[in-house]
Amino acid sequence: PILIGLMVFIRRIELLRQELKQVVRQDDLTGLLSREAFLEDFRNEFTNNEEEISDAFLIVDADFFKKINDNHGHIAGDRALVAITNALKKGIRGTDRIGRLGGEEFAIHLRHVNETRAREIAERLRKNVMAASHEAEIPDLRLSVSIGAVFYNSKQDVVSLLTAADRQLYKAKDNGRNRVEFEFREDFSEAA
Ligand code: GH3
Ligand code: MG
Ligand code: MG
Repeated sequence: PILIGLMVFIRRIELLRQELKQVVRQDDLTGLLSREAFLEDFRNEFTNNEEEISDAFLIVDADFFKKINDNHGHIAGDRALVAITNALKKGIRGTDRIGRLGGEEFAIHLRHVNETRAREIAERLRKNVMAASHEAEIPDLRLSVSIGAVFYNSKQDVVSLLTAADRQLYKAKDNGRNRVEFEFREDFSEAA
């Protein structure tokens, strides 16, 4: 009976742990939505939303972040991540959504933007991060991010958006970092 009691107890703890995981949707370090929460919200929104779509999806990746850790330590690296977070939050609007995809990588969903506006916002985010370099309180640190972005005007699967934005991100890295690369995704299925 003691053994069974123990097993029931352990099972109960496991269930509580799972519940907690659902409740805690925030990333510890930055306070942003976790990857799972961000993707979940994105999917729910698309399911519920019947309005016309004109959105952009961005992946933001810190440049040479490994060097920051190597040169200044992981704790300083964490401060740099918080500085980047604040810079990004400052640059988006209330209707946009941001999450931490993991590591030094963020996802941003810009809603109801035209292509020009989406490019402007992405540029602003890039510049905001550079301007926030001093906030990490690391002497002579220069922060920058590369951004891969997709603009679209029809319902999209979040996985294909991630893939497309990631492809643009690689281009941004290849083309020298600290820059934005964009893809315009037209919906051909609805045009037919
Ligand atoms: P690139 O410009 O090509 O993106 O280079 P990079 O160095 O940023 O890319 P890479 O993916 O090689 O390294 C990412 C680094 O980010 C490695 C990892 O140590 C660091 N990192 C990831 N998460 C955290 C974190 O939570 N805190 C800190 N301090 N560092 C992190
Ligand atoms: Mg990086
Ligand atoms: Mg990365």
